[in-house]
Amino acid sequence: MKRRNQGVVKIFCCIFFILSFAAPHSFCQKPSFRVLAFYTTTVERDHVDFANDILPFYQKLAARENFIFDTTTNWSNLNDEVLKKYQVIVWVNEFAKNEVQRRAFENYINKGGGWLGFHVSAYNDKYTQWPWFVQFLGGAVFYTNNWPPLPAKLIVDDNKHPVTKGLPKTYISPINEWYIWKPSVRLNKDVKVLVTLDPSNYPLGKKDLITEGDCPVVWTNTRYKMLYMNMGHGDQVLTNALQNTLFAQAILWLGRKH
Ligand code: ZN
Repeated sequence: MKRRNQGVVKIFCCIFFILSFAAPHSFCQKPSFRVLAFYTTTVERDHVDFANDILPFYQKLAARENFIFDTTTNWSNLNDEVLKKYQVIVWVNEFAKNEVQRRAFENYINKGGGWLGFHVSAYNDKYTQWPWFVQFLGGAVFYTNNWPPLPAKLIVDDNKHPVTKGLPKTYISPINEWYIWKPSVRLNKDVKVLVTLDPSNYPLGKKDLITEGDCPVVWTNTRYKMLYMNMGHGDQVLTNALQNTLFAQAILWLGRKH
Protein backbone atom coordinates (compact mmCIF):
# COMPACT_ATOMS: atom_id res chain seq x y z
CA MET A 1 0.00 0.00 0.00
CA LYS A 2 2.74 2.38 0.97
CA ARG A 3 4.71 1.56 -2.17
CA ARG A 4 1.63 2.21 -4.36
CA ASN A 5 1.21 5.64 -2.76
CA GLN A 6 4.81 6.44 -3.54
CA GLY A 7 4.16 5.46 -7.16
CA VAL A 8 1.18 7.78 -7.36
CA VAL A 9 3.25 10.60 -5.90
CA LYS A 10 5.95 9.97 -8.52
CA ILE A 11 3.39 10.08 -11.35
CA PHE A 12 1.98 13.38 -10.05
CA CYS A 13 5.48 14.81 -9.77
CA CYS A 14 6.17 13.84 -13.39
CA ILE A 15 2.93 15.43 -14.61
CA PHE A 16 3.70 18.60 -12.65
CA PHE A 17 7.22 18.68 -14.10
CA ILE A 18 5.96 18.28 -17.68
CA LEU A 19 3.19 20.87 -17.25
CA SER A 20 5.54 23.41 -15.75
CA PHE A 21 7.52 23.28 -19.00
CA ALA A 22 4.44 23.18 -21.21
CA ALA A 23 2.90 26.33 -19.74
CA PRO A 24 5.66 28.28 -18.05
CA HIS A 25 3.79 31.61 -17.93
CA SER A 26 0.55 30.52 -16.38
CA PHE A 27 1.81 27.63 -14.29
CA CYS A 28 4.82 28.50 -12.28
CA GLN A 29 6.10 32.01 -12.95
CA LYS A 30 5.73 34.41 -10.07
CA PRO A 31 3.59 37.42 -11.05
CA SER A 32 5.92 40.25 -11.99
CA PHE A 33 3.96 42.87 -10.00
CA ARG A 34 0.65 43.42 -8.19
CA VAL A 35 -1.95 46.10 -8.91
CA LEU A 36 -4.95 47.15 -6.83
CA ALA A 37 -7.59 49.26 -8.59
CA PHE A 38 -9.93 51.40 -6.50
CA TYR A 39 -13.23 52.43 -8.07
CA THR A 40 -16.79 53.21 -7.05
CA THR A 41 -20.26 52.44 -8.32
CA THR A 42 -21.97 55.39 -6.64
CA VAL A 43 -20.81 58.20 -8.95
CA GLU A 44 -22.32 59.43 -12.23
CA ARG A 45 -23.27 56.73 -14.72
CA ASP A 46 -20.65 57.65 -17.32
CA HIS A 47 -17.87 57.31 -14.77
CA VAL A 48 -19.09 53.88 -13.65
CA ASP A 49 -19.41 52.79 -17.30
CA PHE A 50 -15.73 53.52 -17.84
CA ALA A 51 -14.79 51.51 -14.73
CA ASN A 52 -16.85 48.61 -16.08
CA ASP A 53 -14.78 48.70 -19.29
CA ILE A 54 -11.27 49.40 -18.04
CA LEU A 55 -11.26 46.87 -15.17
CA PRO A 56 -11.89 43.80 -17.39
CA PHE A 57 -9.46 45.25 -19.94
CA TYR A 58 -6.72 45.23 -17.31
CA GLN A 59 -7.76 41.82 -15.97
CA LYS A 60 -7.25 40.32 -19.44
CA LEU A 61 -3.93 42.14 -19.80
CA ALA A 62 -2.84 40.83 -16.37
CA ALA A 63 -3.49 37.24 -17.46
CA ARG A 64 -1.46 37.79 -20.65
CA GLU A 65 1.40 39.77 -19.11
CA ASN A 66 1.68 37.85 -15.85
CA PHE A 67 0.74 40.39 -13.20
CA ILE A 68 -1.96 40.44 -10.51
CA PHE A 69 -4.84 42.89 -10.98
CA ASP A 70 -7.14 43.15 -7.94
CA THR A 71 -10.09 45.54 -7.64
CA THR A 72 -12.00 47.05 -4.76
CA THR A 73 -14.80 49.55 -4.17
CA ASN A 74 -13.87 49.75 -0.50
CA TRP A 75 -11.75 52.89 -0.14
CA SER A 76 -10.89 52.03 3.46
CA ASN A 77 -8.48 49.56 1.82
CA LEU A 78 -6.41 52.65 1.21
CA ASN A 79 -4.31 51.87 4.30
CA ASP A 80 -0.68 50.91 4.97
CA GLU A 81 -1.41 47.23 5.55
CA VAL A 82 -3.20 46.68 2.24
CA LEU A 83 -1.10 49.04 0.12
CA LYS A 84 2.20 47.41 1.05
CA LYS A 85 1.12 44.30 -0.89
CA TYR A 86 0.95 46.21 -4.18
CA GLN A 87 3.43 47.88 -6.52
CA VAL A 88 0.78 49.94 -8.36
CA ILE A 89 -2.57 51.31 -7.33
CA VAL A 90 -5.11 52.63 -9.82
CA TRP A 91 -7.82 55.18 -9.10
CA VAL A 92 -10.70 54.95 -11.52
CA ASN A 93 -12.86 58.07 -11.35
CA GLU A 94 -12.61 58.61 -7.60
CA PHE A 95 -10.06 59.90 -5.10
CA ALA A 96 -9.17 59.78 -1.41
CA LYS A 97 -11.46 62.02 0.56
CA ASN A 98 -10.56 61.61 4.21
CA GLU A 99 -7.35 62.30 6.12
CA VAL A 100 -6.65 58.66 7.00
CA GLN A 101 -6.78 57.56 3.34
CA ARG A 102 -4.77 60.56 2.21
CA ARG A 103 -1.94 59.95 4.70
CA ALA A 104 -1.79 56.27 3.70
CA PHE A 105 -1.61 57.28 0.04
CA GLU A 106 1.18 59.79 0.70
CA ASN A 107 3.18 57.18 2.67
CA TYR A 108 2.74 54.66 -0.10
CA ILE A 109 3.85 57.07 -2.82
CA ASN A 110 6.76 58.43 -0.77
CA LYS A 111 8.02 54.86 -0.34
CA GLY A 112 8.09 54.43 -4.13
CA GLY A 113 4.63 52.99 -4.79
CA GLY A 114 3.13 53.51 -8.25
CA TRP A 115 -0.12 55.32 -9.12
CA LEU A 116 -2.21 55.42 -12.26
CA GLY A 117 -5.10 57.88 -12.17
CA PHE A 118 -7.96 58.20 -14.64
CA HIS A 119 -10.19 61.22 -15.29
CA VAL A 120 -11.86 62.41 -12.03
CA SER A 121 -9.17 60.76 -9.90
CA ALA A 122 -7.05 63.94 -10.14
CA TYR A 123 -9.94 66.30 -9.48
CA ASN A 124 -9.17 69.03 -6.99
CA ASP A 125 -10.34 72.58 -6.37
CA LYS A 126 -10.22 75.15 -3.60
CA TYR A 127 -12.51 73.00 -1.44
CA THR A 128 -10.48 69.78 -1.70
CA GLN A 129 -7.84 71.02 0.77
CA TRP A 130 -5.06 68.60 -0.14
CA PRO A 131 -1.98 70.62 -1.16
CA TRP A 132 0.29 67.54 -1.18
CA PHE A 133 -1.87 66.00 -3.91
CA VAL A 134 -1.75 69.15 -6.04
CA GLN A 135 2.06 69.19 -6.01
CA PHE A 136 2.05 65.41 -6.66
CA LEU A 137 0.06 66.08 -9.84
CA GLY A 138 2.60 68.71 -10.86
CA GLY A 139 0.49 71.68 -9.80
CA ALA A 140 -2.70 70.90 -11.71
CA VAL A 141 -5.92 72.36 -10.32
CA PHE A 142 -9.17 71.63 -12.13
CA TYR A 143 -10.31 74.61 -14.18
CA THR A 144 -13.07 73.60 -16.57
CA ASN A 145 -14.36 70.89 -18.92
CA ASN A 146 -16.20 70.55 -22.20
CA TRP A 147 -19.84 69.42 -22.36
CA PRO A 148 -21.22 67.29 -23.90
CA PRO A 149 -18.45 64.68 -24.07
CA LEU A 150 -16.83 64.66 -27.52
CA PRO A 151 -14.05 62.95 -29.47
CA ALA A 152 -10.91 65.07 -29.77
CA LYS A 153 -7.68 65.19 -31.73
CA LEU A 154 -4.71 64.53 -29.46
CA ILE A 155 -1.02 65.31 -29.97
CA VAL A 156 1.42 62.65 -28.81
CA ASP A 157 4.25 64.81 -27.44
CA ASP A 158 6.79 62.00 -27.26
CA ASN A 159 6.17 58.65 -28.92
CA LYS A 160 9.51 57.19 -27.81
CA HIS A 161 8.51 57.05 -24.15
CA PRO A 162 7.55 53.51 -22.92
CA VAL A 163 3.96 54.68 -22.28
CA THR A 164 3.38 56.19 -25.72
CA LYS A 165 5.75 54.17 -27.90
CA GLY A 166 4.32 53.16 -31.26
CA LEU A 167 1.61 55.83 -31.24
CA PRO A 168 1.40 58.25 -34.17
CA LYS A 169 2.11 61.99 -33.74
CA THR A 170 -1.64 62.65 -33.55
CA TYR A 171 -4.81 60.57 -33.31
CA ILE A 172 -8.52 61.02 -32.71
CA SER A 173 -9.46 59.92 -29.20
CA PRO A 174 -13.00 58.59 -28.68
CA ILE A 175 -15.76 60.50 -26.89
CA ASN A 176 -14.60 61.81 -23.53
CA GLU A 177 -15.20 64.70 -21.17
CA TRP A 178 -11.94 66.67 -21.36
CA TYR A 179 -10.61 68.60 -18.39
CA ILE A 180 -8.42 71.66 -18.51
CA TRP A 181 -6.13 72.38 -15.56
CA LYS A 182 -4.59 75.64 -14.42
CA PRO A 183 -1.74 76.21 -14.38
CA SER A 184 -0.66 73.86 -17.15
CA VAL A 185 1.57 71.13 -15.73
CA ARG A 186 3.95 71.74 -18.65
CA LEU A 187 5.24 74.74 -16.69
CA ASN A 188 6.56 72.38 -14.01
CA LYS A 189 10.12 71.26 -14.88
CA ASP A 190 9.55 67.89 -13.16
CA VAL A 191 6.56 67.04 -15.34
CA LYS A 192 6.87 65.10 -18.56
CA VAL A 193 3.82 65.68 -20.76
CA LEU A 194 3.09 62.71 -23.02
CA VAL A 195 -0.22 63.63 -24.69
CA THR A 196 -1.93 67.01 -25.22
CA LEU A 197 -5.33 68.18 -26.48
CA ASP A 198 -4.69 69.66 -29.92
CA PRO A 199 -5.67 73.39 -29.92
CA SER A 200 -7.31 72.76 -33.32
CA ASN A 201 -10.22 71.24 -31.32
CA TYR A 202 -11.08 74.67 -29.85
CA PRO A 203 -13.80 75.64 -29.25
CA LEU A 204 -14.50 72.15 -27.87
CA GLY A 205 -18.02 71.60 -26.51
CA LYS A 206 -21.50 73.07 -26.84
CA LYS A 207 -22.93 73.82 -23.42
CA ASP A 208 -19.52 74.08 -21.74
CA LEU A 209 -16.57 75.04 -23.91
CA ILE A 210 -12.81 74.69 -23.81
CA THR A 211 -11.73 77.65 -25.89
CA GLU A 212 -8.03 78.17 -25.21
CA GLY A 213 -4.97 77.17 -23.28
CA ASP A 214 -2.40 74.42 -23.07
CA CYS A 215 -4.22 71.23 -22.08
CA PRO A 216 -2.01 68.22 -21.32
CA VAL A 217 -4.13 65.06 -21.00
CA VAL A 218 -1.50 62.42 -20.11
CA TRP A 219 1.53 63.24 -17.98
CA THR A 220 3.92 62.00 -15.33
CA ASN A 221 5.51 63.92 -12.48
CA THR A 222 9.02 62.46 -12.70
CA ARG A 223 9.60 62.94 -8.98
CA TYR A 224 7.17 60.08 -8.39
CA LYS A 225 6.15 56.78 -9.94
CA MET A 226 2.89 58.16 -11.26
CA LEU A 227 0.89 58.72 -14.41
CA TYR A 228 -2.33 60.63 -14.93
CA MET A 229 -4.70 60.15 -17.86
CA ASN A 230 -7.64 62.43 -18.55
CA MET A 231 -9.59 59.70 -20.35
CA GLY A 232 -12.34 57.96 -18.38
CA HIS A 233 -15.80 59.27 -19.21
CA GLY A 234 -18.45 56.97 -20.75
CA ASP A 235 -18.54 53.64 -22.53
CA GLN A 236 -16.72 54.65 -25.73
CA VAL A 237 -13.23 55.31 -24.34
CA LEU A 238 -11.92 51.82 -25.09
CA THR A 239 -13.15 51.73 -28.70
CA ASN A 240 -9.84 52.87 -30.19
CA ALA A 241 -7.22 50.07 -30.35
CA LEU A 242 -4.44 52.61 -30.65
CA GLN A 243 -5.43 54.33 -27.44
CA ASN A 244 -5.91 50.96 -25.73
CA THR A 245 -2.21 50.37 -26.39
CA LEU A 246 -1.53 53.52 -24.40
CA PHE A 247 -3.59 52.18 -21.46
CA ALA A 248 -1.77 48.84 -21.59
CA GLN A 249 1.70 50.37 -21.84
CA ALA A 250 0.89 52.75 -18.95
CA ILE A 251 0.26 50.02 -16.41
CA LEU A 252 3.15 47.87 -17.63
CA TRP A 253 5.52 50.84 -17.38
CA LEU A 254 4.46 51.61 -13.81
CA GLY A 255 4.52 47.96 -12.75
CA ARG A 256 7.95 47.23 -14.18
CA LYS A 257 9.56 50.55 -13.29
CA HIS A 258 12.13 50.30 -10.50
ZN1 ZN B 1 -16.49 62.81 -16.63
